[in-house]
Amino acid sequence: PDHTPERILERLTQEGVKFLRLQFTDILGTVKNIEVAQSQFPKALRGDVMFDGSAIEGFTRIEESDMLLRPDLSTFLVYPQFSREEGERGKVARLICDVYLPDGTPFEGDPRRVLRRQIDRAAALGLSLHCGPEPEFFLFERAASGHGTTTTNDHAGYFDLAPIDRGERIRREITNKLVEMGFEIEGAHHEVAPGQHEIDFGYAPALQTADAISTFKFVVKRVALEYGLLASFLPKPASGVSGSGMHCHLSLFRDGHNAFADPEGEYGLSRLALNFIAGLLEHAPGMVAVTNPLVNSYKRLVPGYEAPVNVAWSTSNRSALIRIPAKRGNSTRAEFRMPDPSCNPYLALALMLAAGLDGIEQGLEPPPAIQRNIFKMTVREKRHHKIRELPGNLSEAVDALERDETLVAALGEHLHDRYSEAKRQEWAEYSATVHPWELHRYLDLI
Ligand code: GLN
Ligand code: MG
Ligand code: MG
Ligand code: MG
Repeated sequence: PDHTPERILERLTQEGVKFLRLQFTDILGTVKNIEVAQSQFPKALRGDVMFDGSAIEGFTRIEESDMLLRPDLSTFLVYPQFSREEGERGKVARLICDVYLPDGTPFEGDPRRVLRRQIDRAAALGLSLHCGPEPEFFLFERAASGHGTTTTNDHAGYFDLAPIDRGERIRREITNKLVEMGFEIEGAHHEVAPGQHEIDFGYAPALQTADAISTFKFVVKRVALEYGLLASFLPKPASGVSGSGMHCHLSLFRDGHNAFADPEGEYGLSRLALNFIAGLLEHAPGMVAVTNPLVNSYKRLVPGYEAPVNVAWSTSNRSALIRIPAKRGNSTRAEFRMPDPSCNPYLALALMLAAGLDGIEQGLEPPPAIQRNIFKMTVREKRHHKIRELPGNLSEAVDALERDETLVAALGEHLHDRYSEAKRQEWAEYSATVHPWELHRYLDLI
């Protein structure tokens, strides 16, 4: 009832909203928006706002450049004011949109559409995916020029308290803004590296989570800016310290009950959970190109920093790709530790779900859980346990994605082609660049 065009129009008027942002994301996960003024509100709510998609990354199709934005009315939100001058310009609201072609068919290149397809697949089995993400990020100083640096603004560590943790104030401010916007925040704390923070969300259905992650990143960056800092979700901004991941706590629900829980099952997990975990492990090497999309992502996926390197699962150890937290009952879940916060959350969740559903449909069995620290195993021990490694760089990752038919089908041809092409180009550019490390290591010596 709250999500009818009439009701939203009423709220826009009541709250004195001046601008309405129609948001969507490109294939790389960048949030795009078209802002309309008051006179256009009714047209926007009807889904009649058209834009030229040919300029959007991954959207181009010469024959189809005109696209329509159909707002998902359940995503309506009035932004809080981030600064005083912003307040003076007038309130801003947003609606997240699905992208359609002028003939009324959904656009295949829309990441939200890709996720919706997997959600429908799960729904046909009576299942829905819930996700609780734990995005990590760094707060850095800005140079006088306004550009970001990698100088951190504190020297605190894991769970430290203020006053050491100067980021605490900003983290609280971020949390306040998010709560004002209707987020359910489970917790926020300082992370292992100086200047590194984490804010955990309550779990929610997959589509809502993907929307929330993209909104979250915007809010974190916006609030940090207000304090003169740079918030960065780059997975590995500094060598020698922890990188930023975005663990995803995943569970399937059926009729309002957690379908991963089974007190009689092995480890207290249901068959469904084991099949889902097996699917995630099976497809992890192909999925990583999407869940960890940058050249830089692979510098986080190295031993020693609680980020996964090996394809394995565990009910205790944090070196594994999947960990099963101790909670059971309705909180039973798999913590998928691979993704990082630079991913497109729609595509990443779509592939996690596609992989898990494949495990269920094929009745895949996971290998035995590994309880030891895998980083401390020798190569022989790993071979003995048949533990595979994740692709070591973006190029290997894209190769693995292209070999994985299940995942390619889940992305759809249009989106997969654009995505792989963009990532190959990124890799080629990186490969052709001479990096400081090479000069430092070789220049004088050779
Ligand atoms: N920062 C680690 C990662 O890269 C995670 C650390 C943690 O949350 N325990 O995934
Ligand atoms: Mg955490
Ligand atoms: Mg963490
Ligand atoms: Mg975690």
